[in-house]
Amino acid sequence: MAAMIEVRELTKVYGRQGSLCRALYEVNFAIEAGAFVAVMGPSGSGKTTLLNIISTIDQPTKGRVIIDGREIDRLKEKELALFRRDMIGFVFQEFNLLDNMTIRDNIALPLTLNNRKPEEILRKVRELTALFGIDDQLDKYPYQLSGGQKQRAAVCRALVNDPKILFADEPTGALDSRAASELLACFQNVRNKYGTTVVMVTHDATAASYCDRVLF
Ligand code: ADP
Ligand code: MG
Repeated sequence: MAAMIEVRELTKVYGRQGSLCRALYEVNFAIEAGAFVAVMGPSGSGKTTLLNIISTIDQPTKGRVIIDGREIDRLKEKELALFRRDMIGFVFQEFNLLDNMTIRDNIALPLTLNNRKPEEILRKVRELTALFGIDDQLDKYPYQLSGGQKQRAAVCRALVNDPKILFADEPTGALDSRAASELLACFQNVRNKYGTTVVMVTHDATAASYCDRVLF
């Protein structure tokens, strides 16, 4: 199967001489298209660093990242912006929804910014929120939702552009176990329905058990 993400000899060093921190050292792996993969390791082991680099938020000190056959560090600034917009969705531990917008407007925001047609936006928002079981919450504001519902809304927003890859950094970290298992089931549904490659950082073995594969 073709690799969606390929990482070669990836090294990341933070800081300057005298206070260097080696967060990643010569990391190699490949993730096949359509896989649901967990990245596990203790706190401080470089999980967030790794995710930020393979999602193009940060740059490696050394090594290569190849996504969907394209070498990321060869892309120019403009190409990278388009690449990010079309290829990548990102979910954080904190939900990062905008407080003064309804759930509908929060989820639609990436499409609104892309000047897509209103009826197309609505159709996509309905489809995703139905899959995530929050289609009856669209008129509400974030403070009116539970943590689990807010996180599912944040994932809908990350998916509204139909990205090929969804990155999630400890997405269940702030959720109770029931909300966490609902979210993880949603990730599985997304992968099954859209073929999205899902890469999730977690330090929770139960969360990782929902995945096809675990990278330590
Ligand atoms: P994890 O997500 O697994 O907890 P991180 O990737 O956040 O780990 O951090 C890995 C190591 O890199 C840690 O030792 C952390 O202190 C260090 N680190 C992370 N970000 C920075 C930074 N911006 N500057 C300096 N050191 C950093
Ligand atoms: Mg982290």
